[in-house]
Amino acid sequence: MRVLKFGGTSVADADAIRRVVAIVAEERRTSVIEGPVVVVSALGGVTDKLLEVAALARRGDATHALALVDQLYARHLETLAALAPGEHGGPVPEAVDALFAQLRAIAGAVAVLHEASPRSLDAIAAIGELASSRIVTAALQSAGTPATWADPRALIVTDEHFTSATPLLDAIDVQAPAHLRPALAAGRVIVTGGFVGATGKGITTTLGRGGSDYSAALIGAALGADEIQIWTDVDGMLTADPRVVEQPRLVPTLSFAEAAELAYFGAKVLHPKSIQPAAARNIPVRILNTFRPQAAGTLIADGACPDRTAVTALACKRGITVVTITSTGMLMAYGYLRRLFEVFERHQTPVDVVSTSEVSVSVTIDDRAHLDRIVAALSDFAEVSVSNHLALIAVVGEGYGHEPAAFSRVVRALEGLPLRLVSQADSRRNVTLVLDEDALGVAMSRLHAEFFGKPVATPATLMTSAAGR
Ligand code: ADP
Ligand code: ASP
Ligand code: MG
Repeated sequence: MRVLKFGGTSVADADAIRRVVAIVAEERRTSVIEGPVVVVSALGGVTDKLLEVAALARRGDATHALALVDQLYARHLETLAALAPGEHGGPVPEAVDALFAQLRAIAGAVAVLHEASPRSLDAIAAIGELASSRIVTAALQSAGTPATWADPRALIVTDEHFTSATPLLDAIDVQAPAHLRPALAAGRVIVTGGFVGATGKGITTTLGRGGSDYSAALIGAALGADEIQIWTDVDGMLTADPRVVEQPRLVPTLSFAEAAELAYFGAKVLHPKSIQPAAARNIPVRILNTFRPQAAGTLIADGACPDRTAVTALACKRGITVVTITSTGMLMAYGYLRRLFEVFERHQTPVDVVSTSEVSVSVTIDDRAHLDRIVAALSDFAEVSVSNHLALIAVVGEGYGHEPAAFSRVVRALEGLPLRLVSQADSRRNVTLVLDEDALGVAMSRLHAEFFGKPVATPATLMTSAAGR
């Protein structure tokens, strides 16, 4: 049994959802005995719009908030009508109506109070996946595939950390199979919404932006799936972010550890936490393109990567902040680092990269929400400086540690660019670099050319460069 997750672009409109229906039908025709379980994101762009509804309402602008709700409602109804006309919509139009009625009520309340708590934000954001999963269920049924909708709030049990809740694995291991196994055994396809969960008391939560991948992995792990497929709008994991580097290549295979590093350091195609549940149960993950289903995609599994070049792929993230803590108290002292990291822990701020010298420690963070309080607390025992507008690059590969020249190739490629931080752990699966955001594009292109070759000039790019001369 497989879990197939379709992202926002893959369910953006009726045409895209028809592709999803065809992929699910093909999955049932060619492969396995049960399933699949289909996990869907909100229709493309809807989560952003829902958060905009919340922001407008919080400012007290009920008129614009409700106008946006009406637009979203119309888009959902139109998509549903195109896919499941007439009675094929079944009870779905009512379910979608109920969701939008709820959304209007919450947005109205937020507008009156001028306050949107994280809990209200989750109630609002969850509408996207709750509605899209209903529509995809109806589309499958209308195309003759026996499909059953499952409420993600009955499957993904989480803590109460609204807007980025932590899933409670033991509870999910019980709840997800209990809810899904009977319908699977009856030969039905299950459709559920990603991103959404609920606390033990049934209050709606979300897993954080991009969290549908994580939902799919959690459900796949709980059911002991044979494979988790992430269907998206690119051919697989690419050698770099296609929005930053021209013509990145497809990476056909990745180890779990490589995939986790790349996702953590910015390869948006996978949610950073989505690899962990799959790796823990050794379930292969495949990234596939909804718009080119015949393409081979990327397979993530242990032992999937036979001959490795030094670098498998690059990842990058903007908006990084470096905090540098300097104190002579660090000289020859023990307990100092504990004291320092405790400050970040107390303010629930993850530290990504660490670099130390004799009297100073520099760390990167990408969540600045508690920065002021962190700086104040550190200033009690050290001098603190903060640099913003930085970017981070991770050069990742299982083969990296086996090529002695790898690091010097990285440094040579970046010659002349001011590096702020460099960190390479002894596992030697990656090197992480921090530099000014402005230099990111150049740095990524140079590294990419060094490890994967220069982009091939197409007639279009030749023309542009000729015109530019
Ligand atoms: P979905 O809505 O299907 O979850 P996302 O937008 O979250 O899709 O992730 C897919 C996008 O991730 C791609 O369109 C691409 O722009 C971006 N991306 C960033 N880094 C990479 C990478 N290394 N390989 C592939 N895609 C990447
Ligand atoms: N719809 C959510 C988001 O846009 C979750 C997801 O698509 O994975 O962040
Ligand atoms: Mg995504």
